[in-house]
Amino acid sequence: MRRDARALEAALAALDAEHLKRRRRTVDSYVREGDRVDAVVDGQRLVDFCGNDYLGLARHPEIARAFSEAATRWGTGSGAAHLVSGHGLEHQRLEEALAEYTGRERALLFSTGYMANLAAVTALAGPGDLVMLDRLNHASIIDGARLSGARFKRYPHGDAASAEEELRAASKDSERATLLATDAVFSMDGDMAPLPALARACRDQQTWLVVDDAHGLGVVGPTGRGTLEHFGLDAEEVPLLIGTFGKAFGTFGAFAAGNANLIELLLQKARTYIYTTALPQPLAAATRAALEVSQRESWRRERVCELAIRFRRGASQLGLPLAPSTTPIQPVILGDAEAAMAAQEQLMAAGFWVTAIRPPTVPAGSARLRVTLSATHSDEQVDLLLSALERACAPRVAPRHAAAS
Ligand SMILES: *Cc1c(COP(=O)(O)O)cnc(C)c1O
Repeated sequence: MRRDARALEAALAALDAEHLKRRRRTVDSYVREGDRVDAVVDGQRLVDFCGNDYLGLARHPEIARAFSEAATRWGTGSGAAHLVSGHGLEHQRLEEALAEYTGRERALLFSTGYMANLAAVTALAGPGDLVMLDRLNHASIIDGARLSGARFKRYPHGDAASAEEELRAASKDSERATLLATDAVFSMDGDMAPLPALARACRDQQTWLVVDDAHGLGVVGPTGRGTLEHFGLDAEEVPLLIGTFGKAFGTFGAFAAGNANLIELLLQKARTYIYTTALPQPLAAATRAALEVSQRESWRRERVCELAIRFRRGASQLGLPLAPSTTPIQPVILGDAEAAMAAQEQLMAAGFWVTAIRPPTVPAGSARLRVTLSATHSDEQVDLLLSALERACAPRVAPRHAAAS
């Protein structure tokens, strides 16, 4: 873009014209009623059905206490990068807890999941390598592949057979793929990657498998240890696991977990680990508390899964266009960005906060309302949301969806 006020204005106007302009809303406060926490935006109380606080831990008193006690004890800032003087006891304890939680030799903290994914891909792949990605991977994985300088290929979403075929073809051409990276639970769709088949194919082709379980950890699997637990996959089958704290665990930050040498390589080489300030210790302390609370209060996981089933049952009775997701991410796909925006506004007027997700976050023509459930929602709130969705979406459901239901 030229350095020119008109060019800037035109770029913004173009977004607006395509219904792709994004807008923030400021949460003025939270109103708590028992376990329930509503957001207040522009004086209006909204039930949040679009956040990633699946277990309702983001405003949990015990976790908040761990945060503030650690702030008093350790201070607010780490003061330096981990490899300088910023690595503290709370970081160390959390890494040990995460290694145990994920059943891996070692875990390494990152400030964000975005940075952890950049680290994973760039530490293992570089110019001359080939990287395989699911077409709907999170932006941070794609950016990792771009930044690595490797060539990358994207296989059709969730298609393990295509991925395997591509891996085989690559090794025949003597350009073996260095790594395959995928979301475990896809962030905008809620479905799971076919991890057992991908793990087999990657092992056969000696390709690293990197799995980002940002949305599965804490929620999926018999004890909430994530999508790998759900599928019964171990550290041998999935050598590098990425997780984030900003979703089910209700704090902020991320980690990579794997065998000791692999993690040591990340620590030595990953630029998003080396050249950045260490996560504040209060966040590490709060996250360790969140790990404990998420396991002790297992009703939260059971509850959010129950609500996802309730939502799906209700939505399918109403003929709403659901996606094949069994997780708390339940998108209602409307297709058109304008329709999704209009539905979002209508829901907001009814007291429900459900953001419309538009391209380029999702492919063109698949704009959607990304509904997410949380353990703190009540049955009644879910039922009321369904009625509001029926009113907001009925006129906007694409005919092929309406016919299919
Ligand atoms: C949210 C998300 C990330 C980024 O994590 P942050 O800690 O928010 O930077 C990475 N991967 C996936 C799949 C995500 O949904």
